[in-house]
Amino acid sequence: MSGHTTPWAAGQEATRPRLRGRQRCDVAVIGAGLTGLSTALELLTVAPELRVHVVEADKVAAGASGRGTGLLGPRIGPPLHIARRRFGDEVARAAHLWSVAAVRHVLDLVRRHRIACDLVPGGQLVVASDEPAAEHQLKEHRAARMLGLPDRVEFVGRGELPEHAVRYHSGLRYGPAATLDPAALTEQLARAGEELGLVIHESSRVRGVRRGLLATLLTDGGELVADHVVVAVNAYGGALAEAPSGLLGVRVQAGVTQKLSDDQLAGLAGLADEPLIEHGEAAPYFRLTPDGRLVVGGGAVERGVHGSLASRPGRLLAAVRALSPSLAGITLDATWAGPIAVTRDGLPVLGEHRKDPWLHHAGGCNGHGLALSTYHGALLARRIAGADPGPSELPWLRSKGPWLPRGRVADRALDRYLGHLTAAAAPSGAAEDPVPPDRFAPRTEDPS
Ligand SMILES: Cc1cc2nc3c(=O)[nH]c(=O)nc-3n(C[C@H](O)[C@H](O)[C@H](O)COP(=O)(O)OP(=O)(O)OC[C@H]3O[C@@H](n4cnc5c(N)ncnc54)[C@H](O)[C@@H]3O)c2cc1C
Repeated sequence: MSGHTTPWAAGQEATRPRLRGRQRCDVAVIGAGLTGLSTALELLTVAPELRVHVVEADKVAAGASGRGTGLLGPRIGPPLHIARRRFGDEVARAAHLWSVAAVRHVLDLVRRHRIACDLVPGGQLVVASDEPAAEHQLKEHRAARMLGLPDRVEFVGRGELPEHAVRYHSGLRYGPAATLDPAALTEQLARAGEELGLVIHESSRVRGVRRGLLATLLTDGGELVADHVVVAVNAYGGALAEAPSGLLGVRVQAGVTQKLSDDQLAGLAGLADEPLIEHGEAAPYFRLTPDGRLVVGGGAVERGVHGSLASRPGRLLAAVRALSPSLAGITLDATWAGPIAVTRDGLPVLGEHRKDPWLHHAGGCNGHGLALSTYHGALLARRIAGADPGPSELPWLRSKGPWLPRGRVADRALDRYLGHLTAAAAPSGAAEDPVPPDRFAPRTEDPS
């Protein structure tokens, strides 16, 4: 899975030892992304006496957690006006506040553990490229008011949009939010856990879990016996029978420009603490890094989880160039892709296996997992440690995601749907740049 090039903390080779022989622990976590590492760290915080091991197929942050674009923000599941209709006001409100709590949890974690991850607090501005999108934003704002959330979802009319967003029709400003280096966050959650006694095994793919009096994780070189098992493999769950069903792994792409000049930065200064996200699934979005580079995501969604090549780098480049006339000659330093897990209802999956209460899982954050995965890991940990079972009646607290059709016909239908999303995600006001995909090929390709 490694080998991708991102602007984030340089991805080293796996350095932690493999799982060897037969070992014993209290909680075994499968997957060293934000979900798994946050689970482990919280477990060791609330119950320091526990023996916690994380077993990772590749290395820490090899999956989505090391390849994100670093937008930490609220929102979970469908838009508020749809959530109201589908779940009722109480759940729609609880859902949004849950996502706000997730953002706060990450901000608090960074502060408590002094995590150096280039955190820049601020907001998020979602912008409408056309009239239908602007109408949708008005509905969303009305729903936020009805739910008593007006201070968290603010409507921004055309005349009030910041200078770099004047070509859009309207905006919705969300908070609390921040930007950060997701790979650094993930790696430092691992280090904070290790300081509390966490054991991480890298290059140790779990092939299955043997059920018995206790559970036993099986890898090629070892076995790990545990009282509790946490499945935190998110989009990679297809290969593991113990992963919850109903999660579909798809690949999304991102890129980063060279450093911008002072003139280019001057017109985009507002992006430093408020990323710009075009309304629409897979639509382009942008943020600035503290060293003055523009990160861009969106523009394409593909079936499958393996591989780290962006499928439509020309889309990313066109989106950047369309953002401002000052970026007409800009180039991208790197592009990459990574896996996210989506569900049919857009909600995550967090809970225990229906028949095996010792088997816990969290995933399916539908591309919003920077805050939610980290929060969900911590909530799972508290449930396991008996520290705080939390609510049990919310629709994303469940043993699996909604049913997904499988087979060749379903795959063809899915490809058509993703093709439609990709077509609809073309950057507004720009033709796609015909850049051949291999121009940005990373140094090595995903071996898995
Ligand atoms: C390009 C991109 C941009 C994104 N941008 C954002 C963003 O701006 N904001 C946001 O909120 N979210 C974003 N996301 C989503 C976010 O990164 C994910 O939701 C989050 O990182 C998921 O964390 P995770 O720990 O659940 O999964 P992962 O990070 O994928 O971790 C799963 C781990 O499990 C390991 N694994 C898999 N199978 C096995 C096995 N059998 N045995 C052992 N280990 C195994 C994998 O190697 C991997 O390390 C983005 C994702 C991508 C790909």
